[in-house]
Amino acid sequence: MHPNPEQPAGLYIHIPFCQKKCLYCDFYSITDLAQTSSFLAALNREMKLAAHTDLVFDTLYIGGGTPSVLEAEAIDHIIAAAGRHFDIRAGAEITIEVNPGTVLLEDLRRYRQSGVNRLNIGVQSFRDDNLKLLGRIHSKNDALKSINWARQVGFENIGLDLIYGLPEQDESRWQADLDRAVQMTPEHLSCYQLTRESGTPLDNEVKAGRIRLPAEAHLGKLFKTTIDYLGQLGYHHYEISNFARRSDRADSTWRSRHNQKYWSFAPYIGLGPSAHSYLEPVRHWNHRSVERYMRDIQQSKLPIAATEALTREQMIMEAIYLGFRTVEGIDTREFERRFAVDFLKAFHQTITDFEKDGLLAVNNDHCRLTPAGMVLMDAIATEFTGQEVG
Ligand code: SF4
Repeated sequence: MHPNPEQPAGLYIHIPFCQKKCLYCDFYSITDLAQTSSFLAALNREMKLAAHTDLVFDTLYIGGGTPSVLEAEAIDHIIAAAGRHFDIRAGAEITIEVNPGTVLLEDLRRYRQSGVNRLNIGVQSFRDDNLKLLGRIHSKNDALKSINWARQVGFENIGLDLIYGLPEQDESRWQADLDRAVQMTPEHLSCYQLTRESGTPLDNEVKAGRIRLPAEAHLGKLFKTTIDYLGQLGYHHYEISNFARRSDRADSTWRSRHNQKYWSFAPYIGLGPSAHSYLEPVRHWNHRSVERYMRDIQQSKLPIAATEALTREQMIMEAIYLGFRTVEGIDTREFERRFAVDFLKAFHQTITDFEKDGLLAVNNDHCRLTPAGMVLMDAIATEFTGQEVG
């Protein structure tokens, strides 16, 4: 197991505030916006405490929560402080997540001036009834306005988040949402399945029988529609939930450089409540509660809740799960470099069986799931991770 010293790192900053909690949300965020200024002071101190690293960063991602509930000036200060405390390369990808209904044209202009070069907009749906059901604060028109304003102030790299698998969402309704999204010509689309996380209001509504989520087979069809439809329109499906248009940039794609780090075991540092960091083979994560996070920082301590060194077996398991999420699949040469295991030999029988069923394909040192296999990703990955390797 050798970390790749050449890999540039990613810096993630978690802004733990939202105007209102959505029905399905399991991310850590609170709605008490009165705490924003003390949080920002703590974040600044956390950057100083965490700054002692040799890592070089080529991405900065400000996520949440809803970073755009902060004043644009606060975002400017965060980016400037990150640049002072960490070695962020010129030309780094700098992303901010924004939610419609929390940004105005002037905010977006200010983000650009602060160095943000990628926007991820939490549209979720272009239907007002869906947005209401999800408990979002915005309307379809708010979403359209945010995207238009972003273009108006010059953003060239815009990603939209959409959710599928809503109650009573048939294929044509979902396709209409995809259509509307594509008409806005985003560079990137993330299509997430609505999932019922335990303890969320959505979970309670489902348990009480007031909301019925679609059956697995229907979800599989919606997923297939997404891949086929976006593929025809020039969006390359590069990870289970993510699609990017081709670009004339050096890397020829609008893929999210930052998110790719999570799937390729690149090092990353996460700041803010609940944020995770990884430097092979060690992972650690911060306290979730804002109060606890701020208390540690006031005592000049890094707000780390727990640290774990992944065992070789855990790393193999993650390499399989994360590899199968991407369209390139598992890079068998890289797998051998990291674990001294010949992937194709070690899993020969399982690979052959899934190949026969058209769920998996092997070529050019990569073992990847076919679109039909991606629908069954969890079950297929489990067949691999349940086996012992040498
Ligand atoms: S805006 Fe996003 S982070 Fe905030 S509550 Fe809704 S889903 Fe969760």
